[in-house]
Amino acid sequence: MKVLIAEDDPISRRILEAMLVKWGYCVVTAEDGEQALEALMAQGAPPIAILDRLMPGIDGANVCRKVREKENGTEKYTYLILLTIKGSKEDIVSGMEAGADDYIAKPYDEQELRVRLSAGRRIIDLHKELTTAKNHLLEQSRTDPLTGILNRRAVLSELHAQMARHHGESGRLSVALLDIDHFKNINDTYGHAAGDSVLKECVLQIESALRCDRFGRVGGEEFLIVLPRADESNLQAICGRILSMINSNAIIFNGISIRITASIGAAAWDGIESMDILLARADKALYLAKNSGRNCMKISIPAECAVMAEY
Ligand SMILES: [Mg+2]
Repeated sequence: MKVLIAEDDPISRRILEAMLVKWGYCVVTAEDGEQALEALMAQGAPPIAILDRLMPGIDGANVCRKVREKENGTEKYTYLILLTIKGSKEDIVSGMEAGADDYIAKPYDEQELRVRLSAGRRIIDLHKELTTAKNHLLEQSRTDPLTGILNRRAVLSELHAQMARHHGESGRLSVALLDIDHFKNINDTYGHAAGDSVLKECVLQIESALRCDRFGRVGGEEFLIVLPRADESNLQAICGRILSMINSNAIIFNGISIRITASIGAAAWDGIESMDILLARADKALYLAKNSGRNCMKISIPAECAVMAEY
């Protein structure tokens, strides 16, 4: 594990460095507070730092304060140990208040320093484990387990973010609802494993027809595609590509070739209406596509010119 030693006295710095290297740490050194801060903010910075309390420029306590300010709201955590003069209670109190995790009084005992570093190492390892577990849970909470794409909540939150970004701009954002036609028949005829396989394959086909648009599974066989920078003609081109990908590629399941089609209801956002209204328009367009014989798309354009275009 990497450890930063920030100490202005060259002899003390070298003694510390030699000890830490002996204990198996990879040492980075700094001669003053500025250098220490720079090293701690760099890419791949040491997760543990031993900081001399008294250094020219930014002292150890101020390094602690600045590190904590920078870490605030991020996943980064640096374990900070202050080197203080023995008996200086004020140094200890102000250092810990500034964000230090621990302190070692000079002249320090070698064994004490070794075990305090080990304690820091345990904290850093725990922090890493917690961060990984938290990110894993977050990922799981956003993912549809079958297809690996965004789930309903995550794709709606993506749409919400895009609406906030393009608020007030007409023709900058569209949505498309895609529903696999007669999906129940696939499950009834070939079984649920075949149905799952069809869903996964369908996701790959949608993915290959999209630009870098995000999409998610919002229901059993229904997908919501969020299309930024898509006006009506982009929308027509992209949805047309998706439908032709799906209806021209048979899905092979256990040696059986399954042909599917899908219907799309899309809606271009006027930059003002609510998410519920936008989605309701897409849903209505999807309903019309289904009623027009399926394997087709309908595009709903904003209410002021309430027209349902057919393709
Ligand atoms: Mg000093």
